[in-house]
Amino acid sequence: MPGMGREKGRQLNEQTLSMRLERVAAHVPAGARLADIGSDHGYLPVALMRRGDITAAVAGEVADTPFRAAQRTVRDNGLQRWITVRLANGLAAIEPSDGITAISICGMGGETIRDILDSGKTRLGGQERLILQPNGGEQPLRQWLMDHHYRILSEEVLRENRFDYEIIVAERDGPVLYSPEQLYFGPLQMQARTPAFLDKWQRRLRQKQRTLNNFAKAQQAVPEATVQAIARQVWWISELLASPTVERKEQPDRL
Ligand code: SAM
Repeated sequence: MPGMGREKGRQLNEQTLSMRLERVAAHVPAGARLADIGSDHGYLPVALMRRGDITAAVAGEVADTPFRAAQRTVRDNGLQRWITVRLANGLAAIEPSDGITAISICGMGGETIRDILDSGKTRLGGQERLILQPNGGEQPLRQWLMDHHYRILSEEVLRENRFDYEIIVAERDGPVLYSPEQLYFGPLQMQARTPAFLDKWQRRLRQKQRTLNNFAKAQQAVPEATVQAIARQVWWISELLASPTVERKEQPDRL
């Protein structure tokens, strides 16, 4: 995955987290019992436990090699009493007796995170804070959160090693309604309009305009629905960048 393992010559580990994981760590409530799903080397729960920021953790891994890497990190830090490493698919790593209060799922596509939440939803008590760091696919992930009554409490865009990352923090809070644009951009990010957020969408706009130009030049006809979907996104992004708030406006039939 981009941005993992090394950062500008710095070796990343349980003492030196990437900026991405540091920002995730900042959203884990003090004293939490954390389940870190897809923990890989286990750096996030081990760093938080070493700092005394959480009281216990489960590190879940579906694959054998990262599972053993997480076991090693926990053992090397003498934290076996507080951090349990489990070989399990998604939220199956969580057991009711763990008393988990926060779940982090980071460094995967938004669709993968959504599928992990969806297939494990019977394991969610509804009180846990979700700290999600998708690499793309944020829209379907936000859709799942809305459909399952999770309110987005905090959102961040950050850029590290030439990749844009998003962090979405959510808690279950009854029905919540987000517009299609809010699901696409993030409801809070649309309000905050941070430089990292605006830079990301400026880059995306250029990419999507290039894609539309390539469609126009393509030898084979591109399905109309595909062209329309990208054209709609170009419209939304242009509107977002042009004005402080995205207002619903009549869309042209064809851009
Ligand atoms: N969370 C760490 C981070 O953000 O730095 C590691 C991210 S790494 C790219 C993704 C990890 O998720 C891999 O170690 C992979 O084995 C694990 N993973 C993918 N799907 C999973 C699933 N369904 N259940 C548990 N782990 C999963």
